[in-house]
Amino acid sequence: MGLLQNIRCKIAEFMGKLSRYLIKLGSGMGKSFPGYIYLRIGKLECVRKLARNMKIGSVIITGTNGKTTTTKIIVLLLGNDTKIAYNYESNTINAITTGLLSGKADLGVFEYGIRDIKHAIPDTVCRIVDPVGVVYTNVSREHSQVSGKKNPFEEYLKAKKLLSTPMKRGVVVCNADDPRITYIGKEKEEDVRVCYYGLDIDMEDKTPITGDVFCPICKNELNYSKRYLNHRGIYQCSCGFSRPQPDLILTELITEKDGWQVKLEGEVFNYSTEKPISLDFMVNLPAFGVHNLYNLLCAAATYASFTPYPEKVENTIKSVCRDLDLSILPPGRFEIFNVDGKSGEKMVGMGQGDNGDALKANIQFMQTYAGDEIAEKTAFIYTTPDEGEYEIFEDHLSSIVSLNPRMVHVVPGRESVEAARKYYEIIKDSLPADFHPLSHEDMQNRIDKIGEIIKESPCPYVLVSGCGPEQYMWGNLKSKLKK
Ligand SMILES: [Zn+2]
Repeated sequence: MGLLQNIRCKIAEFMGKLSRYLIKLGSGMGKSFPGYIYLRIGKLECVRKLARNMKIGSVIITGTNGKTTTTKIIVLLLGNDTKIAYNYESNTINAITTGLLSGKADLGVFEYGIRDIKHAIPDTVCRIVDPVGVVYTNVSREHSQVSGKKNPFEEYLKAKKLLSTPMKRGVVVCNADDPRITYIGKEKEEDVRVCYYGLDIDMEDKTPITGDVFCPICKNELNYSKRYLNHRGIYQCSCGFSRPQPDLILTELITEKDGWQVKLEGEVFNYSTEKPISLDFMVNLPAFGVHNLYNLLCAAATYASFTPYPEKVENTIKSVCRDLDLSILPPGRFEIFNVDGKSGEKMVGMGQGDNGDALKANIQFMQTYAGDEIAEKTAFIYTTPDEGEYEIFEDHLSSIVSLNPRMVHVVPGRESVEAARKYYEIIKDSLPADFHPLSHEDMQNRIDKIGEIIKESPCPYVLVSGCGPEQYMWGNLKSKLKK
C-alpha cells in the first residue's frame, strides 16, 4: 500500500471514529453512518486494512431467520472470553465497517443480511473483510422474493453462497438440518473446514412442508425421515445427497414452562488453536421455541470454532445460557402469556411470523404447552402479508389449515387492507373466518381491536401471528396486553 493510500486510510479512520463519537452524543443516526463516512474517504482498500486489525479475524453471520438472535448469542459467548468488535442488523458494508472501526480486537463478529445479489455484494464483502468464519443459519423463502422474477429463490440462495465463495482459510459453520445450507457447506469442504450443527431430539414437525423443497443438486424431491422445523430435519436424496453427521449435536430436550434443558454433544475443530474440542454437557435455557434452539446451537458451534480459550467453552456456554435474557430477542418475538378474557383466563401466544417457517415455529411453540387439543380450542388472529406477497401467504395458509383452529380472525398485518381482504376470501373457503379491515395508518385502533378480539373470544387459546412491523405493532400490542 502506497504512502498516499496510507494517509487516506488514516484520515478515513479518524473521520470514521469521530463520527462514531458524534453518534454517541446524538442519537438516531444509525449504526452504519461511521462506516459510510469511512468508506467515502477511505474506499474499499482501507476497509481491508482495517479488517486486519482483528488478531484472529472476523466472523460474518447470514441466513433468513435468526441472524440477529444468533449474532447476539455469539457476541455474549465470545465476548465473555475475549475482546471482540461487533455489529448487529447490518445489511451493508457500511455497517460492517462501522463495527470494524471499534478498534483492535481478537475477533470481529458481524451480522450481514443478504436479500439478493442486486442489493448486496456478498462476494465483495468476503474479499474485503477476508473473514475466518462465515456462519449460515438457514435459508427459507421470504419477502425478498419478488413475483415475476425468474427463479428468484435460486438467486437468493446463490447470493448467500457467494458470501463464502472467495474464502480460502477458516471455518464455515453450517446447519446440517437445512439441505440448502448443507449444499453450501459441501461445496466449501474442498477449501476450508466446515462445522456442521444439527438436532437429535424427539420433537417433530408434523405439519406439511411449506414451499417446494428440492434436492439442491439434482432437483428431485427430498425424502425426510424426520422434520424438526419445516424443511430442517433428516433428509436424503436418491442421488446420494444427504444430511451430514453434525460435528455439534443438540440432544435430550426437556421442556417445562419456566425453562428448558438440552444437552450439547460433539467434537468441534477450533480454528484459533487448531485443535478439536470435545463437548458433552447439559445446559439450562429459557423456554423459547425450536427455532431458538437452532439459534443457540449455531452460536455454540461458532463460539467453539473460534474462541482462543477452548478450556473455557463448557463454563462459558453454561453461564451465558443460564443468564440468557429474552430481551436479546427482537420486540416482535413470539411469546406466550396469560390474559384475562370475558370467559376467564386464556393463554395467548403472540409475535411476528412473517414467513412460512417463522409462523410454523410459533404454532409449534404454542403446541408444546397447549397439547393435542390445540385445534378445537384455539382462535387464530392472522395478520396478513402485503400486496405482492402471495408466496408468503401460501406458506402461512398451509400451516394455518393444518393447525385447523376453531376460528380465524383475519387482520391486515402490513399496509394494504385490500390485499388482506383477498387473503381472507381464500382462507374462508377452508376455515371458519371473519375479516377486520383495520388500517395501517390508525395502528392504535388496530392494536385495540386485536385486544378486543382476544378478550371476547370463547377459546381458551389465542394465537396472534403473521406479518407486522416489529415495535410499531408487535412491541406495542404485547406491552398493552401484558399489563
Ligand atoms: Zn439429489
